[in-house]
Amino acid sequence: MKIAIDGPVGAGKSTISDAVAKALGILHLDTGAMYRAAGLSCLRAGIPVEDEDRVTAHCRALELDVAYADGRQQTLLGGEDVSGLIRTEAVGKAASRVATYGGVRRAMVAAQQRIAEKTSMLVDGRDIGTVVLPDADVKIFLTAAAEERAMRRWRELQAKGDATPFEDVLRDLKARDHQDMNRPVDPLRVAEDAVVVDTTELDFDQSVAAIVRLIREKCGAEKEG
Ligand code: C5P
Repeated sequence: MKIAIDGPVGAGKSTISDAVAKALGILHLDTGAMYRAAGLSCLRAGIPVEDEDRVTAHCRALELDVAYADGRQQTLLGGEDVSGLIRTEAVGKAASRVATYGGVRRAMVAAQQRIAEKTSMLVDGRDIGTVVLPDADVKIFLTAAAEERAMRRWRELQAKGDATPFEDVLRDLKARDHQDMNRPVDPLRVAEDAVVVDTTELDFDQSVAAIVRLIREKCGAEKEG
């Protein structure tokens, strides 16, 4: 079974995907974590993220992989587990920039397809239904209003003791949306055969339940058909 979940930043894709995959008893591949690991690696190597040629050469040579411990993804960079280190705003920004380069995307897509072909998986990202898994059994586009997404992000930052003002979080989120939707290579868009799920009015449990129901309906219908 292959499930593709795409959507903009802050729609809750990673946490919702985790819970949905668990409910279905399959693994979850968070592809954003791979772009983040690539961004982190460039920052560590002192490569300016604006330098497409150097970034591309660097990312092509990366040893990126994932492992699973108790069903949870560990993102491995040259064998090192960087899962905790990639969750900062600085790394997110670098990831979003390096993800605009065609050469970087080709390397990431190849790595993601290699990982996903091994087993049943729920894969989340920006281009999963359109590029990585065009033949996925179910494609979902998960979204919510920008203000709601920024509010969720802001609450997360507050809980971590980060005092970034809401206005800054909203501005950054809109800039990230713009970058993801307007890059020339594999921009974020709704796949033709995707179902749009808007979680603006749904809490976490309701979002998970709605998606699990949708996947069961679709996969059940396919089996009957
Ligand atoms: O989802 P997350 O915020 O962790 O992703 C980090 C960045 O990686 C995003 O801002 C997006 O630009 C990029 N990305 C992508 N394609 C994917 C997953 C993430 O371009 N499949």
